[in-house]
Amino acid sequence: MRYVSTRGDAPARDFEGVLLAGLAEDGGLFMPESWPLLSAAEWRGLRGLPYPELAAQLMARFTGGAPDEATLLRMARAAYGGFGHAATAPLVQVEPGIFSLELFHGPTLAFKDMAMQLLGQLFDHVLEKRGERVTIVGATSGDTGSAAIEACRDRGAIDVVILHPEGRTSEVQRRQMTTVLSSNIHNIAVQGSFDDCQDLVKAMFNDAPFRQEMRLSAVNSINWARIAAQVPYYAYAALALGAPDRPVAVSVPTGNFGNVLAAWVARRMGLPIERLIIGANRNDILARFLAANDMSVQGVAPSLSPSMDIQVSSNFERLLFELLGRDAAATAATMRRFRAEGRMPVPDDAWRRATALFHGHTLSDEGTLEEIRRLHRDSAYLADPHTAIGMAAARAHRPEDRGIPVIVAATAHPAKFPDAVEKATGIRPPLPPRLADLYQREERLTVLPNELEGIEAAVRGHARRNAA
Ligand SMILES: *Cc1c(COP(=O)(O)O)cnc(C)c1O
Repeated sequence: MRYVSTRGDAPARDFEGVLLAGLAEDGGLFMPESWPLLSAAEWRGLRGLPYPELAAQLMARFTGGAPDEATLLRMARAAYGGFGHAATAPLVQVEPGIFSLELFHGPTLAFKDMAMQLLGQLFDHVLEKRGERVTIVGATSGDTGSAAIEACRDRGAIDVVILHPEGRTSEVQRRQMTTVLSSNIHNIAVQGSFDDCQDLVKAMFNDAPFRQEMRLSAVNSINWARIAAQVPYYAYAALALGAPDRPVAVSVPTGNFGNVLAAWVARRMGLPIERLIIGANRNDILARFLAANDMSVQGVAPSLSPSMDIQVSSNFERLLFELLGRDAAATAATMRRFRAEGRMPVPDDAWRRATALFHGHTLSDEGTLEEIRRLHRDSAYLADPHTAIGMAAARAHRPEDRGIPVIVAATAHPAKFPDAVEKATGIRPPLPPRLADLYQREERLTVLPNELEGIEAAVRGHARRNAA
């Protein structure tokens, strides 16, 4: 299995090469050269498997034998063994035809653990095999950072430097990152927005000498291995609800477009996913794109769902590449104009292809609180603000055919956003016992201005062990 860049100007790589590289050298994102397709009989054969076995079998379709399926199975068992639920990602019915796929039972209580726990294992395996080390740099709006830190803490071949926007993550999110005092973990609070953090990470990757010197690697959702590791849970839910013999729809509270892209990939592999619903908060660039082909950057506004406070959804480039018929030159030109002008010129026919499958839904903070209240009142279900947006989007945009169930990606545990949940319901969800002392733990972080030079200097300081 080979991977190519969406911008067409980087060498093709195998799965392990893509895992370590993250972003392609030409600034593009890696995509499989062709999509693995499963027959209906093959999908049926996956029904009822325990989650780690399903994950290993589907991941093997993307690794081309390295790692092989037995190694993937060992990793998946280790990755998901520590989850707080025996089903890994339980599917809970919330109302007729609407199901919550709970992706938040991992160590940091958000769906990022589903991919990141496996990624930690994959990195370890590949680096050990090659006798190499890496410096992982990442930008986080809250949940990626803690998931990466939990997955990589105390791993000898990896240094981790995570940038988060100062004061724009929840206290639980921040503490989950800054209270990990392992010597290979470093947190930088950037005086800026999440998009600023993401731009800094991209700039570090585009600085070729620096990238080489630090042996930079990424675990942001631009890393293909993360997308691949998010495909199995959509398959798990769809198979449980009758796929491939019954169509389903999926609703995903969306920020960087990684999670919903994984659902698109599951569809591309042959699962009958009829519709992909994208939930947004007031940072609604994707919803505006779907409504009126208006992909224009408007600046980030804080909301009750901070993990979706994003204007530039990096993974959208992967869908764009497909919408443009895999024309890498056209993708590169479109992305260059987007960067220069703040508005993405998507041809009308490509936009129409997107709207045939994707539906967007925007929900205000007030609407989000109302939805949390409604779910609690009508179904005794406690949802965090991100999940609530996915639920509201599902009800607003579900297919007319009520025989098609909607799978809502429940992306965070309600205890991760206790203030919003308490405001809506009067109930303050407690942290699970393994995190109960989070507010008492010591924190460690560095605050820096939004400026590349200073950030690179800090990374160099932290990663010194790699150069030695
Ligand atoms: C990261 C995150 C999202 C957004 O996911 P993307 O893959 O970036 O679209 C939504 N909800 C929560 C809780 C998250 O942590």
